[in-house]
Amino acid sequence: MQKNILEKYQPVIGLELHVQVNSESKIFCSCPSEFDAEPNTYVCPVCLGHPGTLPVLNKLPVELCIKTGLAMDCKINTKTAFARKNYFYPDLPKGYQITQYESPLCSDGYTEIYSKDIPLKKIRIKRIHLEEDAGKSIHDLSESETFLDFNRCGIPLIEIVTEPDLNSPEEVSLFLHKVKQTLEYLEVSDCNMEQGSLRCDVNISVKLKNGNTTGTKTEIKNLNSFKNINDAIDSEIKRQTGIIENGGKISFNTLNYDVKEKITVPLRSKEAENDYRYFSEPDLVYLNISDAQIEELKNSLPESSEEKILRFKKEYSLNDYESEILTGDKNIAEYFERTVNNIKIKNYASFKLAGNWIINEVLAILNEKNISIRNFKISPESLAKLLNPLIEEKISRTTAKEIFSSMPAEPGKFSDIEAIILEKDLLQVSDKTEIEEIIKKVLDENPNELLLLKSGKVKIMNFLTGEIMKKLKGKANPKIVTELFNKFIKK
Ligand code: ADP
Ligand code: MG
Ligand code: ZN
Repeated sequence: MQKNILEKYQPVIGLELHVQVNSESKIFCSCPSEFDAEPNTYVCPVCLGHPGTLPVLNKLPVELCIKTGLAMDCKINTKTAFARKNYFYPDLPKGYQITQYESPLCSDGYTEIYSKDIPLKKIRIKRIHLEEDAGKSIHDLSESETFLDFNRCGIPLIEIVTEPDLNSPEEVSLFLHKVKQTLEYLEVSDCNMEQGSLRCDVNISVKLKNGNTTGTKTEIKNLNSFKNINDAIDSEIKRQTGIIENGGKISFNTLNYDVKEKITVPLRSKEAENDYRYFSEPDLVYLNISDAQIEELKNSLPESSEEKILRFKKEYSLNDYESEILTGDKNIAEYFERTVNNIKIKNYASFKLAGNWIINEVLAILNEKNISIRNFKISPESLAKLLNPLIEEKISRTTAKEIFSSMPAEPGKFSDIEAIILEKDLLQVSDKTEIEEIIKKVLDENPNELLLLKSGKVKIMNFLTGEIMKKLKGKANPKIVTELFNKFIKK
């Protein structure tokens, strides 16, 4: 982004997130809500909107929506209604979508974001409501035809709408990560962006910094990756400020983001609300939620990431950084705790060692291979088996790393790490006489270096220690080696 543009203008951004919730069936019928099924196999007269059929609300999406609202500090509205949003689109066989309009299930909440560079900021949540998804038009299978898949019709979604409180692509990214983390912690959604479980419409306007007039907003539809969201916002800020700088006016448009060209392209002038002819859904009664139900859902909320960070610091004596990394993803936190459960010597040092092993070694592999911890082949139980002898100082860190790096390729083979250690003669040498002999040998072989060292050239120390470690094949306990070596040269 051009710096001088951002010195003059402030972007104003509000998001509408569509989240597919973890429900095995659709929202108003009992069709499965699977992602990968053969097109048009999971459909029935209800989700296809045949005349005379009646929708029946599934309880689970309601509960998941309320849980999300509670986690985001929303007001839970105990009497809400559904509405029909009418529009014609080939992938919407009913000709309308059932959603919540005037009375969303949750409203007026907030979520906090912060990072190293962004001080704590509250992002207000305007509303969270339930709705059904539409089908999918597939344009890229043929040059001349469009295919329709109705499997997605009626899949339960929650829509999270923020107030326009975000002011940069960085804040948007931070907010999305936070929301994704919250939804994963709550087990509301797997938030799989490639599969469309989390999609984002970005509303954006720019205004003069310190000016109080709001600019006209545009809406970029259906973004489904962090990178595209970031790039689309960048390009839209450029487009809008470019128009304004040239004396033009922004029109109230809906835009598409062209991933290849990296530009936002106006799709249509945005429909005003009355274009949708919203009216209350006549086939569904009011949704009444009792205080007792809300209370029960409140009590069923799992530990939040903030609570987990505090607990990790206290229970395992981890520092801020370690706790935050290990709780960033709920599954990683679980991996860590299962590892720790299988560690034999339970103390702060071993917790720290396990935590740092996961941060430095496990996460490095996940990043490199771009996989999630769920697809990581080494189980926490196997990892603990490797870490136990390291903690007990039976093997060196070098040895542990060696074994670890050969673990993913042959997961089955490493059921008995202790046997491998014995078989491959990888046990750490802690036997002082053996180490002393080697030190002596190395010093005998390097008389000149020894003289230099004694004359005060301390750097020679690294070389000599290196030689000693080489002879011990990296299996020596470095603490003991240094200790004995120091004793030797003082002689
Ligand atoms: P609409 O009625 O056009 O859908 P809403 O007020 O419901 O508008 O807001 C829709 C989204 O647009 C929200 O995410 C909101 O934060 C965002 N929004 C509202 N005003 C602005 C603005 N001036 N600039 C950017 N985003 C905005
Ligand atoms: Mg909108
Ligand atoms: Zn159905």
